[in-house]
Amino acid sequence: MRVEVSETAESLPTQPGVYLFKGENDRVLYVGKAQNLRVRVRTYLSGGDGRYQIPQLVERIRDIDVVVTPSVKDALLLENELIKRHKPPFNVRLRDDKQYLALRVDPAERWPRVTQVRRFRHDGAQYFGPFTSSQAVKSAVSTLRRIFPLRSCRDAVFRDYARRGRPCIEFEMKRCVGPCCDLVNEADYAELVRGTTLFLRGRSDELVTHLGERMQKAGEQERFEEAARLRDQIASVKNSFERQSVVSDQLVDRDVFGLVRDGGEVEVQVLHVRAGRVIGTQGYGFSNVRVDDGEVMSSFLGQYYGAGQGRQVPAEVLAPMEISDDGGLEALLRDQLGKKVSFKVPRRGRLRELLAFATANAEVGLSRRLEARESVEATLDELRERLDLSETPRRIECYDVSTFRDSIAVASGVVFQDGAPCKADYRRYRIRNAAPDDDLACLREVFQRRLARADSEPLPNLLMVDGGRGQLAVLLAALHDAGLQRDAIALSKERDLESASPRVRRSGGLKSERVFTPSRVDPVMLAPSARSLLLLQHVRDESHRFAIEFQRKLRAKAGMTSILEELPGIGPTKRRALLRQLGSLRAVRGASQTELQAVPGISARDAATVFRFFERADRPDGPDGLVGEAEAAAEVSERKPTAQKETEDPI
Ligand code: SF4
Repeated sequence: MRVEVSETAESLPTQPGVYLFKGENDRVLYVGKAQNLRVRVRTYLSGGDGRYQIPQLVERIRDIDVVVTPSVKDALLLENELIKRHKPPFNVRLRDDKQYLALRVDPAERWPRVTQVRRFRHDGAQYFGPFTSSQAVKSAVSTLRRIFPLRSCRDAVFRDYARRGRPCIEFEMKRCVGPCCDLVNEADYAELVRGTTLFLRGRSDELVTHLGERMQKAGEQERFEEAARLRDQIASVKNSFERQSVVSDQLVDRDVFGLVRDGGEVEVQVLHVRAGRVIGTQGYGFSNVRVDDGEVMSSFLGQYYGAGQGRQVPAEVLAPMEISDDGGLEALLRDQLGKKVSFKVPRRGRLRELLAFATANAEVGLSRRLEARESVEATLDELRERLDLSETPRRIECYDVSTFRDSIAVASGVVFQDGAPCKADYRRYRIRNAAPDDDLACLREVFQRRLARADSEPLPNLLMVDGGRGQLAVLLAALHDAGLQRDAIALSKERDLESASPRVRRSGGLKSERVFTPSRVDPVMLAPSARSLLLLQHVRDESHRFAIEFQRKLRAKAGMTSILEELPGIGPTKRRALLRQLGSLRAVRGASQTELQAVPGISARDAATVFRFFERADRPDGPDGLVGEAEAAAEVSERKPTAQKETEDPI
């Protein structure tokens, strides 16, 4: 540290704000927040901060920047932003790519429904969760539908069925009480909504008591059918809650954080306890961590609950150690929850056991991560060795072209870093110049466009293309023309293995693959079970999937496809007949089975197929296509795809 740096510290303001320690070439080394900037920075520089990474950090500081903020809470928000932007090596950075799933019920709707969301908002609706796996959400929703059959359809579908005057198949399956067709009155529906929210809050006793009272009243008034239905609901509620593990008899919502460390590897595990039950856990791994555990925890919590993350704030946070906060985090969470959030470091009793539970999960997470890393290292080494690569293929890019009836051609470029997909770096290409039916010309165009960006988007360790020697030659020529050198391969499917079992051969599951490399005349044949091949297949399949997905979106946009094309057993002649007779896709979709059967050339079986297909498609969990067609058409340009859509998903 230079003398000027110490002098700078003395002139810093004493207000709250954010400080940035900068090293050589203005590289931001560390970002922190403080209630009093001067005091905080002085503590660092004077050696008064005993944390073990500090000497290494202080040695490298060449300059200090500060930003004064109105409060320490604003400082926390700005700190999060700056950590995201500068990725300082001495900060713990939460790369939150985890799925955050919650259920939402909006009582302001006339006929409320339960929807799955990925973000908590202050919009007057009630949120339940978080669920950390889609499996957990599915299970909760399927139980709910059985016990409290609220509508599950989108508003447009609701209106559509209301117009038709008949409910959808959900009603037949007793998974909806049919509000679209006035088959339930608003008071009874409101009772179902109330049951749903009590259920999701885990208030089983209250719910059972409430249902019991209604059952008794229905019995006294000789409404026996209703009494029997309520009896069944009570049994289902009891059964469902018995299956959930209760970890606390207090109905407090808590997030419990466990932390373990092995050198620079740190794992934080979050346990979401809602109404006394663990509803999900989530692990976060950090590598090359240079700060101590308290700093990790404090920084993690700031980023975890920081504004913009859309997380539900619980009433209580349990942490394994005291958090150095300066009051910013506390203020932020109080704002979000609307009341004070209690931070506890449990020393004994049931809360301590909860913390131990979170820590044990963190230990498992860490050891699995380390094992997985070893396996990835071994896989990459194997690839390098078997394919004579000049460097370890830590970053791989793979390209594939997808065409539709020689009229639309697109390509994908997917990226894998250390064996895992890097979705934020995926690229889509709409072929502009090459003829769609000329696969090699399409690839040439894509490679030329990709390599032209080599300065702004550095090339990976390995470039890969789906195809054989011809495709590889195009890639190598493009590299040559651009004056660039890089390892390049092509991966091509071989016929089914003779040795594969008939079942596997039928499913096409086990294929031999040929890897073409520039240095060998014959392709390299990797063993079908070799982990290096499995990785290449994964990369190639992902590229294929991504290209097809884009091509379908373009088709939907161009109106060149119809949901009718997805119908099993309905060929072009029958499709034309349906459209000619009924006038439009919408009319086909809305037609009854009898109306469909009246179309010349459409048998009873065809009519049943079409009818059932649209019944399913109209259901919120129906197949993509009809319901999703408009949405699918929304994004069609060649650009970096968004990492995660933050939309409300029907369930
Ligand atoms: S359309 Fe189906 S899910 Fe929607 S309200 Fe009617 S019956 Fe229920």
